[in-house]
Amino acid sequence: MENCLFCKIVKKEIKADLVYEDDIVTAFRDLNPQAPVHVLVVPKKHIATLNDLEENDKALAGHMLFAAKKIAQKEGIAEGGYRTVFNVNRDAGQAVFHIHLHVLGGRVFSWPPG
Ligand code: AMP
Ligand code: ZN
Repeated sequence: MENCLFCKIVKKEIKADLVYEDDIVTAFRDLNPQAPVHVLVVPKKHIATLNDLEENDKALAGHMLFAAKKIAQKEGIAEGGYRTVFNVNRDAGQAVFHIHLHVLGGRVFSWPPG
C-alpha cells in the first residue's frame, strides 16, 4: 500500500525500533509511548481497520495475539499484567489506518478506559 506509514516500516523504508519480527508480523516500539512498555504489533499485510478483516485473515489475527503474548513475556510485563488494544475508526481515535495491536505495560491502567 503506497503512502501507508506502517507498510513503510514493515518494508524498512522508514526506521523503527523493532522488538519482534516473523513472516507475518513486525512489532516495534510506539514513537509516543503511553506506558513504560508500548509496542505495536503490525501485520505485514495491509488491512486498514479491524472492520476490513476478512474470513481468511483469522489466522493472521490469531498470529498477532500470539506475538503480543510472546512480546509481553520478553518485555517482562506478562506476570504483572498488560493491556492490548485495537483502536477502530473515529470514536476510538484510530490515527494510522493499517491495523495494529497496542501492547502496553509497566504501569497500572484504569478501567474504564478514557
Ligand atoms: P492509533 O491511534 O491506534 O492509530 O495508534 C497509532 C500509533 O502509532 C500511535 O500510538 C502513535 O504514537 C504511533 N506512531 C505513529 N507514527 C509512528 C512511528 N513512525 N513509529 C512508531 N509509532 C508510531
Ligand atoms: Zn499499510
